[in-house]
Amino acid sequence: MNALVVAALALLVVTTTPYVGYLALYAWVQPAGSPADKQDWEPDVSIVLPTYNEAQIVETKLDDLLKLDYPMEKVELVVVDSSTDDTRGIIREYFEDLDAPELVLLEEDKRRGLAPALNDAYAAASKEVVVKTDCDSKLPPDVLREAAANLADDDINAVTGRNVEVLGGSEVESGYRGVQSHIQQLESHLDSTLIFHGPFSAFKNDALLPIDPNSLADDTELALKIRRQGGRVVFDPAVTYMEASFSDFVKRRKQKDRRGMGLIRLLVQHRDALGKYGKYGQVVLPFNWWFMIVSPWLLAATLVIGIGAAISVFGVVGVAFPAAVCVFAYLGQSDRLGPFQPFYSISDTQVSLLRASVELLRGKTDGTWEVDSELREAFE
Ligand code: GDP
Ligand code: MN
Repeated sequence: MNALVVAALALLVVTTTPYVGYLALYAWVQPAGSPADKQDWEPDVSIVLPTYNEAQIVETKLDDLLKLDYPMEKVELVVVDSSTDDTRGIIREYFEDLDAPELVLLEEDKRRGLAPALNDAYAAASKEVVVKTDCDSKLPPDVLREAAANLADDDINAVTGRNVEVLGGSEVESGYRGVQSHIQQLESHLDSTLIFHGPFSAFKNDALLPIDPNSLADDTELALKIRRQGGRVVFDPAVTYMEASFSDFVKRRKQKDRRGMGLIRLLVQHRDALGKYGKYGQVVLPFNWWFMIVSPWLLAATLVIGIGAAISVFGVVGVAFPAAVCVFAYLGQSDRLGPFQPFYSISDTQVSLLRASVELLRGKTDGTWEVDSELREAFE
């Protein structure tokens, strides 16, 4: 057999084995729902909302928060605003004739980035439970109760949830989120999950820690640090939210690549945690290293060598292989792959992670970004 073919097959086996292993582990553990011992609990809650030029949607967001099924007398809203538009004016006016929730408005003169703004907001949050939510997300009425029920368990310090509906209707994103939800349930049952989601995360106040001012993955960083302090941080699929996303390949890149950079940088910064902290460092972190840092390069190499192998064996006919890859990508980004859509969604994530690694190697690590106004149209 041709050496290129052998190399391509070997790469394919090496790349897919850890995935098969994780699937087998999933089948064995059969994680379902949250591992927490959930109990009814109604603590006082600080809701932290960071805003940067959200004048277009902030009123919708506040309406949404007031619709939460929770006694508003027990809620404090901590907004940290770094806008140059009228966001804070709109918020102040909104609260003028409201008795509850109580508003704590932190006003920044200058945009320093999301992480330093959040550090201030977390320091100002005074209630027993602290919820963080992004402006461009919708929350269902039961989300605070579901989150509090998890935190009623003394062993649980933080909980995040599932994106149930991708506003804007992107099948690419919802396909990936479906797969991710299963992975995060498995991680939570083994020990703790890695990724915390910006649209909704809830923490016990006394577990909060400062985050790196340069962080591009603030929510996940907080969760990881809490785990390293001996806490447990889980994912509960009953805790839900909705966030907007595109399917179009080019439009997806900016946000996904930046998020990928934040996560990869975080894993590398905390590489000393590998192997420690029980199954978190022995299974959860290694799998995420594999998925986010190693697998994107291996997949790219498999593809390049696979194309070389196809052409070397079949000559011109071998061009059918890269052509098929292009058709797969084209159909995938227009949400037309039917049952195979999740495979495209994972490839799409791997593309972002590869691009993120390249950007990091090139030394790009700016802590601020353009808030995407096109995505926000899904909320008006
Ligand atoms: P993405 O969802 O990862 O693309 O991030 P977004 O651009 O949607 O930002 C997440 C949340 O952080 C939104 O509520 C933004 O308004 C807010 N945000 C982004 N940058 C800043 C910032 O520099 N300061 C503050 N206070 N909020 C910010
Ligand atoms: Mn967002």
